[in-house]
Amino acid sequence: MKLIGMIGGMSWESTALYYQLVNQLVRDREGGLHSARCIVYSVDFAVIEQMQVQGRWDEAGVILADAAKALEGAGADFVMLCTNTMHKVAAQVQESISIPFLHLADTTANAALSAGTDVLGFLGTDFSMSDTFYRDKLTERGLKVIVPDEPERKLVHNIIYSELCVGIIREESREVYRRIIRNLVAEGAQGIILGCTEIELLVGQEDSPVPVFPTTRLHCEAAVDHALDDALVAR
Ligand code: GLU
Repeated sequence: MKLIGMIGGMSWESTALYYQLVNQLVRDREGGLHSARCIVYSVDFAVIEQMQVQGRWDEAGVILADAAKALEGAGADFVMLCTNTMHKVAAQVQESISIPFLHLADTTANAALSAGTDVLGFLGTDFSMSDTFYRDKLTERGLKVIVPDEPERKLVHNIIYSELCVGIIREESREVYRRIIRNLVAEGAQGIILGCTEIELLVGQEDSPVPVFPTTRLHCEAAVDHALDDALVAR
């Protein structure tokens, strides 16, 4: 089984879910006491969040590239960045290492394409919804992406940072997300990308009339597929 290198802490609430999911998936597939071989490099999210707000993305990229290099140096066979938003600096991270990088938007696109879902509503931080760095990876693959309007994007964004990233789960916020999902479906979305790693802590398939694409789970499934791929060197 290959050694998974995770860059986490953005936020640790979702990294905890990553850790749980990769272990559950390995146990489900391998049985018995099997568990995931992984290393988690967890950053201080307050530092990263300040850089996001101030637009200092390159500096944040340096921190994450250093984390990736540390994971490679510690023996990781591949690296995953456990946040959608920070894939804005994915190229910087990827270029800093010589081991594979498991891009979250590729994983998401693969899942949507194999489900035959062409038009996708996208929920994430406003950085991810308003910018094109993530959506481009989906549209390049022939998918159409729609995002909420600006007031709804702010609501989605604020619930992520002021509640989900600090472990607060509120029924009122779940209802807000359900309403925004319904609006995206009314605009033509055939599926909803839960495009922020904390969103799965709040809503799931039961909150949507169309299929959801939970990016944390999908990323973990891809990581475990890769870790258990016998075609590559087993340790
Ligand atoms: N975990 C989040 C995401 O998947 C947001 C936190 C961050 O800004 O990294 O986008």
